[in-house]
Parts: sequence; structure tokens; C-alpha cells
Amino acid sequence: MARIIAVANQKGGVGKTTSSLNLAASLAIMEKKVLLVDCDPQANSTSGLGIDQEEVRHNLYSVFFQPDEVVEAIYPTQTPYLSILPSTTDLVALELELVDKMAREYYLADLLKPLDSRFDYIILDCPPSLGLITLNALCAARELLIPLQCEFFALEGIVKLLQTYEQVKKRLNPGLSLLGVVLTMYDVRNKLSRQVKNEVRKCFPDHLFETVIPRNVRLSEAPSHGKSIIHYDIKSKGAESYLALAKEVVLRRPQRREGQGG
Ligand code: ADP
Ligand code: MG
Repeated sequence: MARIIAVANQKGGVGKTTSSLNLAASLAIMEKKVLLVDCDPQANSTSGLGIDQEEVRHNLYSVFFQPDEVVEAIYPTQTPYLSILPSTTDLVALELELVDKMAREYYLADLLKPLDSRFDYIILDCPPSLGLITLNALCAARELLIPLQCEFFALEGIVKLLQTYEQVKKRLNPGLSLLGVVLTMYDVRNKLSRQVKNEVRKCFPDHLFETVIPRNVRLSEAPSHGKSIIHYDIKSKGAESYLALAKEVVLRRPQRREGQGG
């Protein structure tokens, strides 16, 4: 059974895609079989792994209502053990198409079912909203990973995200648990970064990852070369930090469900 991890935060530009892609590549380097699912119409994970959305025949949108065909939309990447289910801008239409569907939150969960036994990790890179695609990701996932950018308003909006998480857990997907919160774009020299870290630690004493992702220019350059940081510059601080995060993720077992006992 795969560990299915949704990387979500409705704020844009907080490091969801950078974290999804580089965590996926880091896990793959550890010889875990990983599938990165690009759930964002902006398709940044897709292009960030060097895939041209015009050149692939199938994508998340084209197979979304056809779980029998999902395997055809899985493409290998230049990283052994890492595959991708790419996205395209067409995915924008999905939010609307889902609106009047029965059980509209569960389509992605159904789509991923045939893949559960093929991968060790399935990472879902979510769009910057709490719309139906993100809800589908939260219903398909077993774990939620929240990237938080080290900035003044970091915690703003997190309340809404946590409320959504609680609601999903209560009503739609009781198996979901909070894997953790990871701080991104951390600047050691910046007092504000340190303050934000302390604040976040107070809010999430049990869930903040030890690993903090530094602001690192190599991380921002890598996608334009169609590479994860592991292939672009494995010696960079960025690569070092995502490899450390991957180790923590492997060791951090999902919490037991309340009432499960033992
Ligand atoms: P999101 O997916 O949440 O919208 P991204 O991962 O695309 O956020 O990051 C937003 C921008 O910040 C991108 O241009 C990305 O390259 C850059 N970025 C993300 N993380 C870092 C980092 N740790 N250091 C430097 N730049 C980063
Ligand atoms: Mg993104």
C-alpha cells in the first residue's frame, strides 16, 4: 500500500510544487517507487520535471474519469524510480465539471486505487485553492504535508486549511492524518524567519519537521532546466535539505486514527 501524501496550502508561492517535486525525487534516490501527481492546472511539477504538456498524450485531466486508463498517463522521468502523472491547463475545467457530480470529492481516490500497489509513495502537488481538486486530493490522501513560507503572514490562512483538514477527516476521509508542516524559504540571517519558526513551533509542537528548507537560488533555477534539485545540483543546500526532509518523512509514520486503540 502506497503512502499517499497531499502537499497542500491554498496560498500560492509557498513552495508546494518545489517541495512535492524535490521530496519525490529525494525519495526516489532512496530507491522508493514514487509517483508525483500534478494536480495543478499550472502544471509546474510537470514542466519542472522536463515534461512538455503539449507532447504527452495523456494527463490527469484526460484520464480523470477513467481509472481503467490511468496507467497510460504515467510517464517515467530521468530519475529512476520516479514517475509522473502530468497535468495540463485543461485541468481548469475540472473544477466546473465536478460540481454537479455525485460523490464529487472521491474521483481522484478512485483514480489512484489501481496504483496503490505499484508505488511506495504517491505525492499530490495541489493547486493554490481549497476548491474541488484540492478536496479530491485530501480525500485520496492518507497524509497531509503543509509547506509554510517563512514570511510575516505565514500563519494567515492556515486556520482555514486546518479547518478544511478537520472537516475532511470528520466527514469524508477519516483515514487522513497530518504528516507535518515544513518551513520553506527560510533565511537564517533574517530575524523574521527565526520569529516565524518559533511561532510555527508553538502552533505545531508535534508536527513541525526538524528540517527547514532554506531559501536557495539553486532550488528556483532547477525547474527551468526541467530537473529536480537532485539532478540539477545535488551538492546544493536545497538538495541537502530535501534529502533530509525525505529521511524524516520515511521515518515519520502516519499517526494512528483516533479510537483505533493499541
Ligand atoms: P507553490 O507551488 O506553492 O505555488 P512554488 O514551489 O512554485 O510554490 O514556489 C514559488 C516560487 O518560489 C518558485 O519560483 C520557486 O522556484 C521559488 N522557491 C520555492 N522554494 C524556494 C526556496 N527554498 N528557495 C528559493 N526559491 C524557492
Ligand atoms: Mg505549485
